[in-house]
Amino acid sequence: MAEIIDGKKISEEIKTEIATEVKSLLDRGLRAPHLAVIIAGDDGAALSYAESIEKQCKGVGFISSVYHLSSNTPEEEFLSTINFLNNDDEVDGYIIQMPLPKQISIEKVTAMVDPEKDMDCFHPTNMGNLLLNKDCYLPATPHGVIELIKRSNIETSGKKCVILGRSNIVGKPLSMLMLQKGIDATVTICHSKTKNMKQICKSADILIVAIGQAEMITPDYVKDGATVIDVGIHRINAPELPKGYRLCGDILFNEVSKKCNAITPVPGGTGSMTTACLLLNTLTAYRKKLH
Ligand code: NDP
Repeated sequence: MAEIIDGKKISEEIKTEIATEVKSLLDRGLRAPHLAVIIAGDDGAALSYAESIEKQCKGVGFISSVYHLSSNTPEEEFLSTINFLNNDDEVDGYIIQMPLPKQISIEKVTAMVDPEKDMDCFHPTNMGNLLLNKDCYLPATPHGVIELIKRSNIETSGKKCVILGRSNIVGKPLSMLMLQKGIDATVTICHSKTKNMKQICKSADILIVAIGQAEMITPDYVKDGATVIDVGIHRINAPELPKGYRLCGDILFNEVSKKCNAITPVPGGTGSMTTACLLLNTLTAYRKKLH
């Protein structure tokens, strides 16, 4: 049976570190860091993520605010909310929840975000800095995966890493981070048009899956002894359970965990790391203002 990589425990350690620093800021008479969330519409997953961010901000002593706009908010009003946050000195950083309603252009939104307050690495400047390995806010989910790997002492140098998924928020930036000096993996990215995906996956020492396909990755995609990281998250109807549903990832956990060396569970793996890294980014933005 594989070692279970405990993202919940590691994220709690990160949050304890953050809470300790916030306490010392408050003891010095300084204000707490402030993270804002903009959300338009009533997408269930986006709303529960926003709720979870508020709760976790409170847990570490941050101020949080949620700007919940309706799904038919005109583009101009959405952009003026971004402008308002850009100019509010008491807000250190913010994120914009996806998906955006169709009347709002993602290009206009990303261009308007202040790169200094861009906690999810949306702005092209931050994306470019990430590519160039310059100082920038790392996108929360890839940042969480990297922290999980580092804090679990998973060997990456010279290892073959296969990433499934090429989205702008997960797969692509994660591939850049795994390639960076200091991490030094040899990276391959697969997507929906990749041929021979199983064979490619079976060559991976580290397999990272972010395809949004519930439990698609079975043991025949996995090399014996590999490290397997599941970014996917899905709610599956299960009327027999008290909640009426269960959560799972893109990997068939019960089967794959018999074959690999280490694996992240869902829930309790990469998901908890995403919010912890969002808080870390906000603390970094706050610290920059202090100096
Ligand atoms: P997207 O839908 O934006 O991207 C999915 C990627 O997977 C695309 O590149 C797509 O290929 C590829 N893909 C889809 N199906 C297949 C397939 N059958 N074989 C190979 N590749 C495939 O998803 P996201 O990147 O936003 O999210 C991925 C997963 O991670 C989702 O389950 C999401 O819920 C979860 N997630 C979890 C987070 C966390 O905090 N843990 C945060 C963000 C997302 P192509 O480009 O060719 O279409």
